[in-house]
Amino acid sequence: MSTSDVEVSTRLRLVQEEIALAAEAAGRDPDSVKLVAVTKTVAQAVIEQAIGVGQRCFGENRVQEAHAKWPALKERHPDIELHLIGPLQSNKVREAVALFDVIESLDRPKLARALAEEMAHSGKCPRLLVQVNTGEEPQKAGVLPVEADAFVALCRDTFGLTIEGLMCIPPFEEEPAMHFALLAKIAERLGLKGLSMGMSGDFARAIAFGATYVRVGTAIFGARVI
Ligand SMILES: *Cc1c(COP(=O)(O)O)cnc(C)c1O
Repeated sequence: MSTSDVEVSTRLRLVQEEIALAAEAAGRDPDSVKLVAVTKTVAQAVIEQAIGVGQRCFGENRVQEAHAKWPALKERHPDIELHLIGPLQSNKVREAVALFDVIESLDRPKLARALAEEMAHSGKCPRLLVQVNTGEEPQKAGVLPVEADAFVALCRDTFGLTIEGLMCIPPFEEEPAMHFALLAKIAERLGLKGLSMGMSGDFARAIAFGATYVRVGTAIFGARVI
């Protein structure tokens, strides 16, 4: 093993230990929290190191980048679960449905329709999370909190989609706890079990608020260059 191998495997283990501790502190089963290792800008060789020590769940935020890196990796490791955690344009839906096992960024009717059509057409059905813009930031993707109930109902009733849960990216400069609490409250109201929230700086707090997926990049792979 090279030095960076050791680093990635050590950091991965530390993050997993912190997840387990946070779950136990919250009176939750550590297995109820899944680590999504975020590999945007991370090279294939480095991703292989994480795979080599048993990590199987990964996240990418760009369809294009994921398409360049993941088909070969998934072919070698068919048990990998790949999450799309960034925006999805309607014209990339075919590619996304083919490549991703979970799409966390469903946030508008046009996309729901396109996903439903492509899933019917291809027979491949990635699990779906609805992204909620809990901070109501104009530049950020996601449905507004007040629109979440109607949008989830539309996905289910009009497009026949199964929604597994909700995802949020809190405003960068704000205390994330109120956003985690809000997302958990909306999910509970809608009877949804999946909650994707928490990143490198705040995943332990997200677990305290019920996160079932935490999306962690920097704490495992180091600071991104771009
Ligand atoms: C990059 C990214 C993450 C990971 O962020 P880190 O701070 O590096 O852990 C999580 N979620 C989304 C949507 C991201 O784009």
